[in-house]
Amino acid sequence: MADPNFDSLVSAFKKLGLTDEKAAETAKNNKLSPILYETYRLAEENSVDLNKSFGSLLYNLASTITPEAREYLSFISKEILNGNLTSNDQVSEAIKYCKKGNPQTTYDDFKSHCGVGIVISDAQIVSKVSEFLKANNEKLVSDRYRVLGLFLSKIRQDPELRWAKAETVKATLEAQVLEIIGPKDERDVPVKGKGKGKKAPKPTGQTEAKPAATKPKVPSKYTPASFASMFSEGDISKLHKPGENPQISDKILKEHLDFIKGSVITRFPPEPNGFLHIGHAKAINVNFGYAEYHKGKCNLRYDDTNPETEEVKYLESILETVKWLGFKPDQILYASDYFDKLYELSLHLIEKGLAYVCHCTGEQIHESRGGDSMGPRVACEHRDRSVESSLLEFKKMRDGRYKSGEAILRMKMDLEDGNPQMWDLVAYRIIFASHHRTGNKWCIYPTYDFAHCLCDSIENITHSLCTTEFIQSRKSYYWLCDAVDVYKPVQWEYGRLNVTNTILSKRKLLKLLENNIISSLDDPRLYTLPALRRRGVPAIAINGFVRELGVTTSQTTIEVSRLENHIRDCLNSTAPRLMAILDPIKVKLTNVSKPIELEVPFNPRDVSFGSHKIPFTNTLFIDSSDFRAVDSKDYYRLAPGKTVGLLYAPGPITCTDVVYGEDGKVIELICKLEDGADGLPIPKPKTYIQWVPYSPEHGSPVVLDELRLYNNLFKHSNPYDKSVVPDGYLSDINPESLQVVKSAVIETGIYDLISRFANDQKTKQHFDDKNFEELRFQFLRTGYFAVDKDTLFSSSFVEACKGPQSNSVEKLASTSKNNVLVLNRVVTLKEDPNK
Ligand code: ATP
Ligand code: MG
Repeated sequence: MADPNFDSLVSAFKKLGLTDEKAAETAKNNKLSPILYETYRLAEENSVDLNKSFGSLLYNLASTITPEAREYLSFISKEILNGNLTSNDQVSEAIKYCKKGNPQTTYDDFKSHCGVGIVISDAQIVSKVSEFLKANNEKLVSDRYRVLGLFLSKIRQDPELRWAKAETVKATLEAQVLEIIGPKDERDVPVKGKGKGKKAPKPTGQTEAKPAATKPKVPSKYTPASFASMFSEGDISKLHKPGENPQISDKILKEHLDFIKGSVITRFPPEPNGFLHIGHAKAINVNFGYAEYHKGKCNLRYDDTNPETEEVKYLESILETVKWLGFKPDQILYASDYFDKLYELSLHLIEKGLAYVCHCTGEQIHESRGGDSMGPRVACEHRDRSVESSLLEFKKMRDGRYKSGEAILRMKMDLEDGNPQMWDLVAYRIIFASHHRTGNKWCIYPTYDFAHCLCDSIENITHSLCTTEFIQSRKSYYWLCDAVDVYKPVQWEYGRLNVTNTILSKRKLLKLLENNIISSLDDPRLYTLPALRRRGVPAIAINGFVRELGVTTSQTTIEVSRLENHIRDCLNSTAPRLMAILDPIKVKLTNVSKPIELEVPFNPRDVSFGSHKIPFTNTLFIDSSDFRAVDSKDYYRLAPGKTVGLLYAPGPITCTDVVYGEDGKVIELICKLEDGADGLPIPKPKTYIQWVPYSPEHGSPVVLDELRLYNNLFKHSNPYDKSVVPDGYLSDINPESLQVVKSAVIETGIYDLISRFANDQKTKQHFDDKNFEELRFQFLRTGYFAVDKDTLFSSSFVEACKGPQSNSVEKLASTSKNNVLVLNRVVTLKEDPNK
């Protein structure tokens, strides 16, 4: 066979995957080129499809083969081409083996020496690395990136990992370390003159890196069983047993005991005049939780006694929210169910001489109760009218013969009592409004003071749990039950929950709406429960937050950051990871010709999250914050002439040129992939950054229409405090409470996740209910995100996700152009130290 000429050498070497430049250089190398060409001919003779990995193994063999092994070149090459030797490590062991003699005669020994056929799965690597990091967590947290090299060599010494791919072990270690301690920062700047290995001082205000979680599942403190301590400790653990509360007659007690059969019965009694808020989450946990803890029942009872303020949409939202938080009402009841019964009881009260119709105006009542000067109370002229007269007048009220405000029914209590709740409270007032359940049947409606205790009584509530502003009402509550001779529940009060930097009052929330500060009551900056849900906050995080605070009587205002920590805790163990770029710069790789496919885990620390494929081509995006035109020593990411690692990529990249636009802005970075194919040593990157591939044929990147980043709605932690915000909460709006990013790009893994979610039988229902907020991701280094409901209202997204072909990611990708993809930031990855 004639010696191949220069051109055919170059062409052969290019087929092995070398770049033009590298192929030419190798062809000129008289020592290397004949050996490499021989391996190439072998491949061709055996008609092996040369992909890049064969090429680089053959190149490695040709360039490192020793004189003793030279005679076995074709044997080793064939071992590569038949897939027995798949890593550089194995090739170098094969070369070493030839020192001992002919590998063909002791073939079995050769195979075991080189680890042929031993497959170490990615899952094994992930779990080994994870185990190691768990055992060495303290050292990692204190010494950070300085221990990476040491850790890698120790992990590689694990006999089970002897034949694991070195690149995979290294990439896995790096990814897990990043996950645990975050990217490199000022703590990782080597301390000058202090010798190697000295700790850099920890900057103040930094949050402590979290130790490796032992379990990938939801942390156990968020499981339902975990809230037992909320009821097994403190005053609430000392409440009476069902049936132990005294009644005014044995008959009443007996009927009650017969009804409850020893079980606890509680209720959650919202007024359907607005969305529930974070404070209600406490009330829900207290009421449903107490019943659950005692194996009893809890009713959802709508306190729908004021038709003027109530709306059906709120009724629906309340039930949905209760269910979302994970509670199931034993019965769904309405105060209006009892309007007839309540009317009867009011007649009974009048007949007993304990109620009267009064025609005083609001002002007159105020004056007769002592007025602004809080002077002595005086009875009004109506208080002593006869029972007959009150019965007659009350029926006239019921029959619509009075206008609203002309007459009220008042309870005849005790004006001498020190408790204002005993000063002849109003029992019924006239409201001409249609009721969502009783229509126009009534024009008189019972007040909270009249209805609440009697509804509790009718339902045989054993523990009427409410907030401390009702402490004074306890007396009137008991008074009325006894006055009408019915069962009397026990009222017990706990402190309201408030959080900083927000307002919860329905009236004030409506003001925000009227002033166009928000566009809906589920605006994710609010702390209504529908808003938190829309933002993507997991229900278990809210429950966990509320339960951790416990049930005390003190009214508490809690830092929102405490809720945020619970959200992070939950999402850290449940949200798959994706790479996303908020402000992309294009990167062109000059030495990548063929696209390759990379397998990227959805969570580098937990294989149960699965993985997805992403293309690696000659174009990709990085974030503008990961590049600096002017480099500095303490800067570890990309800059002209500098090398940085790309997570999961086949090698780091070095920036060789920067293309600027006319406005002086960076348009594109020209970089080189450092994969060692040119035979030059691969520079060591100081840190790793995320990236998103550009490959239109793979539908990559996915462009997000909107990424909504939320911050506190108010500038002050207590916007309702006039001494801090004299012009009122409307003047305290944080102009940066909502930032909308329109340029973000993300890897196609989001479609894998959406399609997986849509196809999960368990979540199919969610899709029908448009429960998209359950789709949550961690964007590496950026935060946790959830799909906003706007995605659904403006698109056929759900349709694209459902149906027989729904598992096709391509389908989603192709329909995505017609769909608006909006994501909300649920919470940042770390607490903002400036907050
Ligand atoms: P708001 O005025 O904030 O809307 P509310 O008391 O009028 O509250 P309701 O619908 O009457 O709202 O509340 C239903 C239940 O939830 C009541 O038992 C109430 O005590 C309780 N609740 C309301 N706000 C809070 C809070 N911030 N913390 C704890 N429980 C609360
Ligand atoms: Mg109320």
